[in-house]
Amino acid sequence: MASRMNPAAVSSLCATHVEAPATGTCERCGTFICAAEGGRLCQPCAARGPEAYRKRVWGRRDGWAWALGLLGVWYLVPTVLYVSRGQGEVANALLGAVSGVACGLYWWGWKPMRLGIFAVPVLTGGVTLLGASQGRDVAVAFGVMLMLAVPLLLARLSTRNRLFFREEVSPAALEKSLRRYLDKRLAYVALGLSILSPCIPPLMLVSVPLWVSLLRRKDPVTGEPLLRKGTAIAGLLFALFGAWVGFVALYNFFSAPAL
Ligand SMILES: [Zn+2]
Ligand SMILES: [Zn+2]
Repeated sequence: MASRMNPAAVSSLCATHVEAPATGTCERCGTFICAAEGGRLCQPCAARGPEAYRKRVWGRRDGWAWALGLLGVWYLVPTVLYVSRGQGEVANALLGAVSGVACGLYWWGWKPMRLGIFAVPVLTGGVTLLGASQGRDVAVAFGVMLMLAVPLLLARLSTRNRLFFREEVSPAALEKSLRRYLDKRLAYVALGLSILSPCIPPLMLVSVPLWVSLLRRKDPVTGEPLLRKGTAIAGLLFALFGAWVGFVALYNFFSAPAL
């Protein structure tokens, strides 16, 4: 984004690059900046970014934490229903209970769960293996294990996730995570998912949280919202509308009388 032009700055020089004519002023402290700053902040203010970002997201749930919280509900609700009705196998009930609680603790931000969460794919795969009687079932068990383990590995490698668990990160990783946090292209991803929602309604599970996250993102130094509020709200409504259309279409499809 181009820096705001300041008429008074035309004859002034950049505070950092003393030979360069100023092209605007820093949004935070008002000092003169030039084209080399390439943004809206002077160098000292921009340098405050990563630290301000760390403070802003320290201990704050990331997308992975919310996803795991949702998975925990997904494990616990059927387990409680089955157990309360006296149905289901003991192994499955135990698996559901342990996995649900593990996901809940992860959502809560209990540090040991950053590694401990891998018990969920191991247990889920293990229980599926126990019930396996043919070679094909064994393949399914490993498939399930992998499908759960790969996203968990991505979460473990994420700097933003470390910050949620209040773990120290390197300055380079922090800066990279900040750049990602302030990347507006994420709005296009959210928009793409929203456009696909009428055909694949469950995509709303990703697009809606994404819009909510975009709506709440602010430049950690200036406090300026990443997207204009109207844009983010319009995106959110569009995602909800798309999913609604998809669900109505699905409902009509399945409730249509057979010919
Ligand atoms: Zn400044
Ligand atoms: Zn400059």
